[in-house]
Amino acid sequence: MSRLMAKTLREDPADAETLSHRLLVRAGYVRRSSAGVWTWLPLGKRVLDNVSRIVREEMDAIGAQEVLLPALLPKEPYEVSGRWSEYGDLLFRLKDRKGADYLLGPTHEEIFTLVVKDQCTSYKDLPVMLYQIQTKYRDEARPRSGVLRGREFQMKDSYSFDVSDEGLAESYRLHREAYVRIFERLGLDHRIVSAVSGAMGGSASEEFLAPAEAGEDTFVDCPSCAYAANTEAVTFALAPVSGEHPALEEVDTPDTPTIETLAAHLGVPASATLKNLLVKVDGEIVAVGVPGDREVDLGKLGEHLAPAVVELVTAEDFEGRPDLVRGYVGPQGLEKVRYLADPRVAPGTSWVTGANRADTHARNVVCGRDFEVDRYVDVVVVEPGDPCPSCGAGLRLDRAIEIGHIFQLGRKYADAFGLDVLGREGKPVRVTMGSYGIGVSRAVAALAEQTADERGLCWPAAVAPADVHVVAAGKAVPLALAEEAATALAASGLRVLLDDRPGLSPGVKLTDAELIGVPWILVAGRRSADGVVELQHRATGTREELPVSEALARLT
Ligand code: ATP
Ligand code: MG
Repeated sequence: MSRLMAKTLREDPADAETLSHRLLVRAGYVRRSSAGVWTWLPLGKRVLDNVSRIVREEMDAIGAQEVLLPALLPKEPYEVSGRWSEYGDLLFRLKDRKGADYLLGPTHEEIFTLVVKDQCTSYKDLPVMLYQIQTKYRDEARPRSGVLRGREFQMKDSYSFDVSDEGLAESYRLHREAYVRIFERLGLDHRIVSAVSGAMGGSASEEFLAPAEAGEDTFVDCPSCAYAANTEAVTFALAPVSGEHPALEEVDTPDTPTIETLAAHLGVPASATLKNLLVKVDGEIVAVGVPGDREVDLGKLGEHLAPAVVELVTAEDFEGRPDLVRGYVGPQGLEKVRYLADPRVAPGTSWVTGANRADTHARNVVCGRDFEVDRYVDVVVVEPGDPCPSCGAGLRLDRAIEIGHIFQLGRKYADAFGLDVLGREGKPVRVTMGSYGIGVSRAVAALAEQTADERGLCWPAAVAPADVHVVAAGKAVPLALAEEAATALAASGLRVLLDDRPGLSPGVKLTDAELIGVPWILVAGRRSADGVVELQHRATGTREELPVSEALARLT
């Protein structure tokens, strides 16, 4: 440590919001270069490399082959796939000296498809799984939380290529199992949840989430069955109800443009009212119906309707539309507007809703009798206690960090690039693909979030920058003993960090050792002359005085 480039800080960096951000900076693992762009100092680089090594070993074990594609990519393939424009502001775009357009790769489906198109011509060349561990670039809107969400970050991305759907299912299964082994070896507590495929397209998709307060994802978890899903992917069942309802009736409801004022005026609960949100989908005005007591999740609506673009309506959109009465929209008689609704607005349910006239509402408005739903979409914000779609028990909601994502992409990219191989029968067969990502640098932060305590970082052995942190708590005899112990430990193959810094008090050194978070701390202090050291276990905080020979035997 007298030579190590790792300056510890007593104070939290001013801009740090999350525990991992604060501690990784304070313990000298990373330093900010610019917004969302980080320098990995020696200790951090070691942890990052340990994560990469485990990822690499498990990818190799399923037969995936490591390659390294460029990060600097030409625009054309991304125009073919449509993502040059679909990615919007997320893409770092640049020009070379001749004016040709390039981008910094945010993910590499296009380029891998082209590599396989170039290399594989027959069904005999498949299946193939390729991966890389590489720097990715995304101009994130909110690059915060340190390396959790960077604009430049490390990702392991892999891609599978198969000739049949069964082959793809098998490649997907192999990745899923490799991911479980990776996260177990890393010591990351994780859950596998159903995900929305979003802009990627394709069918089956699951996310690996690391539960943590600092996470930006919310997932639901059923306390009584195995159901777990990203809240964006939760789908509730449509449960039609039968029964007679009185005829539709219009009522005067002056000054009731909000659900609260309406419910109070009519003396009904907000859940009995039907709220109709107007949005623009690729420029077309569409109404979205949800129970009055529920909120619409616009992000989720966007995910469901992707790649269509969803926007809120503005005052101008009402001009020349006398059929749309702000605050008093109802689905009955709204002929020119497509009607999307939450599954809770099931056939046979009866509602209080707008009458499409100012200051007027309608009651006994029955779904299937007075109006039809054009399409059901799950867009309400999920709340704790909502029924589990699989068993009906009340769902729990938790926060988590997305650490991995696996997709069955299908033929989307193979279609875009005409990726065929010659099949068994001598005819061309279209290839089907999977894509699989792990946030390698994000995993470092996720591990820090899950394991750190108020004293500092606390690494699982598999990723720690060293196995033992030897502290010379004093000069002369303690220093000599510490050096001797460090040499012996290193000779037996352990990775040792030796705190031989002169002129620092034992207290300062121990505080730093706890902040740095190596699993074992061996202190040569006051009793060094007798050959006695103190052995501390960072995670549990247990400490014990014992002869140095015994301490070494135990550690090795
Ligand atoms: P997020 O929803 O967090 O933005 P994503 O769904 O866009 O992530 P993917 O395209 O699935 O991310 O990328 C694969 C993996 O790369 C993610 O599961 C995550 O672990 C990691 N990752 C994505 N974006 C970032 C980022 N900005 N910084 C660090 N890691 C990231
Ligand atoms: Mg993802």
